[in-house]
Amino acid sequence: MGSESPQLHIFFFPFMAHGHMIPTIDMAKLFASQGVKATIITTPLNAPLFSKSIQRARDLGFDIHIRTLKFPAVEAGLPEGCENVDTITSNEPNKGLLTKFAVATSMLQEPLEHLLQECRPDCLVADMFFPWANDAAAKFGMPRLVFHGTGFFPLCVSECIKLYEPHKKASSDSEPFVVPGLPGDIKLTRKQLPDFVFEDIQDDRTRFFKQVKESDLKSYGIVVNSFYELEPAYADHFRQVLGRKAWHIGPVSLYNRGIEDKAERGKQASIDEHECLKWLDSKKPNSVVYVCFGSVANFNSAQLMEIAVGLEASGQQFIWVVRRDKADKGNEDWLPEGFEKRMEGKGLIIRGWAPQVLILDHEATGGFVTHCGWNSTLEAVSAGVPMVTWPVAAEQFYNEKFVTQVVKNGVAVGVQQWTRLVGDFVKSENVEKAVKEIMVGDKAEEIRSRAKAVAGMAKRAIENGGSSNSSLKALIEELKLCRH
Ligand code: UDP
Repeated sequence: MGSESPQLHIFFFPFMAHGHMIPTIDMAKLFASQGVKATIITTPLNAPLFSKSIQRARDLGFDIHIRTLKFPAVEAGLPEGCENVDTITSNEPNKGLLTKFAVATSMLQEPLEHLLQECRPDCLVADMFFPWANDAAAKFGMPRLVFHGTGFFPLCVSECIKLYEPHKKASSDSEPFVVPGLPGDIKLTRKQLPDFVFEDIQDDRTRFFKQVKESDLKSYGIVVNSFYELEPAYADHFRQVLGRKAWHIGPVSLYNRGIEDKAERGKQASIDEHECLKWLDSKKPNSVVYVCFGSVANFNSAQLMEIAVGLEASGQQFIWVVRRDKADKGNEDWLPEGFEKRMEGKGLIIRGWAPQVLILDHEATGGFVTHCGWNSTLEAVSAGVPMVTWPVAAEQFYNEKFVTQVVKNGVAVGVQQWTRLVGDFVKSENVEKAVKEIMVGDKAEEIRSRAKAVAGMAKRAIENGGSSNSSLKALIEELKLCRH
């Protein structure tokens, strides 16, 4: 590609959280597969999380590199070695540390500028959480693209809520209101909105999100991990009504085709991938429900207990990922007496990190209980797996509406309250009911066939000439024209 013009060089700078780093690494590899030189910027302790996968891409001949910036953890008042949001939220979520983490990331502007000066790339793709990245890119006359890590639908909902403030007119926290100005009759309640929507709470967090929005508007455009056929009305709305410049290039997870690439995303998995595949291979198609709540959300022991009871009562086979680190291993107060013994062969608990895409892509996996992080949602869409939606934080309630009201490839577990990190309480009966609903019966079949049809569209979108492939190529051509 582009033999006449010099090679395009793009910097990719993800926020240091797995839900942001994982798709950005996929994206960098995707651009590199199109002949672009891709450099991923991260910090020393985050680089090893994906260095093997980058090495594999290099072995294939991709021009892809990692450069690190020292992370000023101690300078910002964080414990030494705290370079990923994961290290803050894996045990007791600590609000103070999250604020310090944000301070530390903002201190990366200067070292990033030094690197931009040294390497002079043609474009900077920087995470939404780096609102100062526009200024850094502008100093060197290059465009800055924003990566949110989320889809058109949640971006549109977020924007319409900000523009029309429908929550202010609702008579109570639990009264559903329609999101105005948005295609579809999308209903939400005040309880389901992220806290930073309530601008009357003037704290560092709301101020920060204001900067993020402003930076979005001033950026060159937005790269979206989605595909047109999944959300045509919202992709159009985002561009034509909200007036944003955006390119859809996903689902980026689909570019991981080998077992190693699918298994080694984010952290080192807590189960050997071959052992996991062997377990799944012994099961019938669509007979296992996979339960995982992403890399940040947390539940207390009482909630984990309800999940265990609900799963057992559903009678379904399952793989359940529980984010309890090594220190908790001795303390199993979250499991009913004799649970693992009773579930032997029927249920597998992974303590820590699971090879999620490998599991979702296996034909035995027939359902996914998810917190509706955009990556997880899109990975399930790509694999054609129906979902039980259990949103916790961030824009996850918007994503739930997308699954249950727009694509209709899942059912809600019934959680009502947005929380920052620790999920709102759901009873075992709700877990049992929702799991059965997507796994057995006529309604389950109907949802499954819809999910499979959308997965087919996802695969076609990334093929040569598909909607995401064309959008990616158009973006590359435009960036070539931008450079001087
Ligand atoms: N993930 C994984 N194994 C786990 C938990 C998460 O591979 O045990 C991956 C998952 O496949 C997804 C990402 O981590 O790519 C989580 O991103 P998402 O947007 O779903 O949620 P977040 O972690 O940002 O809340």
